[in-house]
Amino acid sequence: MVLQRDGIEKLPSYIQGKAIPHAVKLSSNENPYPPLDSVRAAVARELESFNLYPDMGAGALIHRIAERNGVRPEEVAVGAGSVEVLAQLIHASAGAGDEVVFAWRSFEAYPILTQVAGATPVPVPLRADEGHDFAAMAAAVTERTRLILVCSPNNPTGATVSAAELEAFLAAVPERVLVVFDEAYVHFNTAPGRAEGLDFFRRHENVAVLHTFSKAYGLAGLRVGYAIARAEVAANLRRVSVPFAVSNLAQQAAMASLEAEPELQQRIDVIVAERARVLAELRALGWAAPDSFGNFVWLRTGARTPEIDLALQQHAVVARAYGTEGLRITVGTREMNDRFLAAIAGVAPVTA
Ligand SMILES: *Cc1c(COP(=O)(O)O)cnc(C)c1O
Repeated sequence: MVLQRDGIEKLPSYIQGKAIPHAVKLSSNENPYPPLDSVRAAVARELESFNLYPDMGAGALIHRIAERNGVRPEEVAVGAGSVEVLAQLIHASAGAGDEVVFAWRSFEAYPILTQVAGATPVPVPLRADEGHDFAAMAAAVTERTRLILVCSPNNPTGATVSAAELEAFLAAVPERVLVVFDEAYVHFNTAPGRAEGLDFFRRHENVAVLHTFSKAYGLAGLRVGYAIARAEVAANLRRVSVPFAVSNLAQQAAMASLEAEPELQQRIDVIVAERARVLAELRALGWAAPDSFGNFVWLRTGARTPEIDLALQQHAVVARAYGTEGLRITVGTREMNDRFLAAIAGVAPVTA
C-alpha cells in the first residue's frame, strides 16, 4: 500500500441528494425549470470548440459579474461552482492548526472542505429558532481563527441573517479574520431587514461574498460560482484555484444568464410564491414549519426523520434527510410540490 496523507480516510464524504427513478427529486435545491433557450443557444455555440482550453482567467465573465454587482473586476474570483470558490477561500485563509468557525447545522461542505485544507472546523450550534448564534460564534473566535462562514439564508434551515445581527457580529470579530457571507440563495431571500452581502462588503474590509449560478440561475450541472472579495484576497483565490476549472460552456452560460435576469426573475417569483403555499399547507396540516427564505423548506423532525423520509419515498418523493435532525424539502414546480404535499398529508405531523 502506498503512503497517503495521515487521517485522509477519516474525512467525511459529501453526500449528493438522492435520486430515485420516477420519483420527484426535492433533495438538492435544484432549479426545477429546464435551461432557458437563450442560455442553451450560448452553450450550443461553444460545442464547436471544446477541443480548446477555456479562458483560464474567465475575463469576459468576470467583467460582467463585476458590472452586475458594482465592484471592480479585481474583486471577483470564479470557480467550478461556489463550492470550488469556497475551497479556494479556505485554502487561501487557513492551514494546519488554523480554525474555521461556522454555524451548525449549515452547508455540509463547510466541515469537509475545512478538513481537506488541513484546518480545524469549529461548528457552533444554531439557536433554537434555527438562526445563527452570533454571540456563541463571536465567543468561539480564537488566535487561530482565520475564517468565519455565515450562510444566509441558511442551508438547510432557511433562516436568514438580519443586517442588524451581522453588523453587531462584525463589530465583535477582529478585523484580521475574513468573514465569508454565503448567499447561495440570495435571489429567494424576501426577508425584511435581511443583511445584503454586497452592502457589507462595501463597508467592511474583512467581508467577502459568495454567489452561485447553480440555484436561482439554474446552472447546477455546468458548475460556476464566484466570490466578491478585496482585490488582495481575490488574487490569492486565483493562486489556489484549479487551473481551467470553469469551462467555456459554463462561462458562456453564466453570461447569457446574466442577460436573462428578467426572465429568470419570473421563475424565482413563482418559486417564492410556491414556498409560501407549501409552508401554509404544512402548517394547516399541523406541522411546525419555520419560515424559510431559500428555495426549500425545513422540518425539524428529530428522531422521526428516517421514518418520515421513508414514508415520502414510498410516495415517490425524495427529500434530503439529516440523520435524526430534520428534513429539507426543495420547492419545485407546483406539480412537484403537490406531490410532496399529498405524500406528507399521510404522515402524523411533528408539532411545535
Ligand atoms: C448549493 C450551495 C452552494 C453552491 O453550490 P455550487 O453548485 O457549488 O455553486 C454554496 N453554498 C450553499 C450554502 C449551498 O447550499
